[in-house]
Amino acid sequence: MPTSSDYERMLREAELRVTSPRIAVLSAVHDHPHADTESIFGVVRESLGAVSHQAVYDVLKALTNAGLVRRIQPQGSVARYETRVGDNHHHVVCRSCEAIADIDCAVGHAPCLTASDDHGFTIDEAEVVYWGLCPDCSTAQRN
Ligand SMILES: [Zn+2]
Ligand SMILES: [Zn+2]
Repeated sequence: MPTSSDYERMLREAELRVTSPRIAVLSAVHDHPHADTESIFGVVRESLGAVSHQAVYDVLKALTNAGLVRRIQPQGSVARYETRVGDNHHHVVCRSCEAIADIDCAVGHAPCLTASDDHGFTIDEAEVVYWGLCPDCSTAQRN
């Protein structure tokens, strides 16, 4: 479990000023992978007290730009955030309840899939989203 000094170090290494909202947001995203802005805001508010939506939104943007946080947005979903960055992992999304889980890259590195015809493009990423039903929803459907 990273401590707040670990988050301080991450911020410094990313050349971001260390502030308590930044530490609180990093820690909230770490503890709640794939949370949306609203849930992160709720967690940060519990630990920091008064904090505005705009402040949390700005911190998420700064952390995403600095590469400390990854922003994902499955089709039909709001933006969600995670601290698992720097690998090429994919996501599986439940069509029914929007639960999200990580799936390791099938190949181990981007772009994961080889295009059958690259049309001369230099491809550095394939965005893969797996869709289906989570265990809870598929059990519910069978009953
Ligand atoms: Zn589900
Ligand atoms: Zn993930």
